[in-house]
Amino acid sequence: MAFVRCRRDPCGVICLVLTYFSVFYADYVVVQYVLIPAYSDSVWCSLHGSVFNLILLLLLACHAKAVCSDPGMVPLPETAMDFSDLRSQSTRMNERGCEGWTVCSRCETYRPPRAHHCRVCQRCVRRMDHHCPWINNCVGELNQKYFIQFLFYTGVASLYSLVLVVSSWVWRIRNERGGDAGREAEEEESPSKHLIVGHYIILLVESVLFGVFVVVIFYDQLVSIVTDETPIEQMKNRLMKKDRGSSSSSPSSPQMPHPPTHTRKPKLALLREVFGRGSVFFWLLPLHSSPPAARRTSHTSPLPE
Ligand SMILES: [Zn+2]
Ligand SMILES: [Zn+2]
Repeated sequence: MAFVRCRRDPCGVICLVLTYFSVFYADYVVVQYVLIPAYSDSVWCSLHGSVFNLILLLLLACHAKAVCSDPGMVPLPETAMDFSDLRSQSTRMNERGCEGWTVCSRCETYRPPRAHHCRVCQRCVRRMDHHCPWINNCVGELNQKYFIQFLFYTGVASLYSLVLVVSSWVWRIRNERGGDAGREAEEEESPSKHLIVGHYIILLVESVLFGVFVVVIFYDQLVSIVTDETPIEQMKNRLMKKDRGSSSSSPSSPQMPHPPTHTRKPKLALLREVFGRGSVFFWLLPLHSSPPAARRTSHTSPLPE
């Protein structure tokens, strides 16, 4: 399925390649131009190298899980459905306890509450957050955890490389000032010095850009979880409120429906629905956690007989 999506979205493929390139480039610069020259004589070289590579490994593992996991796609019906009698079918669905299910005209199927159609994936996704080109996949009910973990480790890796590069650069400047004039002049002529400074600047820019970018998205993701409202639902509710505001000012216009309200749950319960019921420590690991009963909406359409 991931391969089919790759073929359909060239932007997603470019973002995937850029992600892997940025990660391997950061690792190369940190090991080759920061740790080996600055810390080669101390235990800090292997310590920083191990921790930094562990963070990158977790980053890539979470990214791979977010890319390859099913975000919660609503299955397509095996046979074509007849929607001609939609009103009576909806009534029967409500009688069966399937309230809130809607019909997607593009997928030509029934979809559970909070599912939305993604134009890139060309499928409906349960509790769809958004389509992310950086994982070339939708962020939905089943892979949001991996996506947030990917953001977290990208932020940590950006901050870590930023600190390492700045401290190494400061160390170099101090060394040059402390060294003898002849060696300094020799180093000044050396083309590798410009190369090292070039790598430092590129990695600093990369770390700041990616760092700020993921912090903003990470914050949005947490807000959407604790308010139990995806960005699509936030937008729809805002439009509904606006429409209701304008319709109430003109008495002739029909009354607009109220925005859907979800059951108010504690923030921790909402976070556990995404990250799993285990210890908070496991929230940081890209391990599979079964969705809670409240969200384990049926994979099959509630077809009227
Ligand atoms: Zn659809
Ligand atoms: Zn999508």
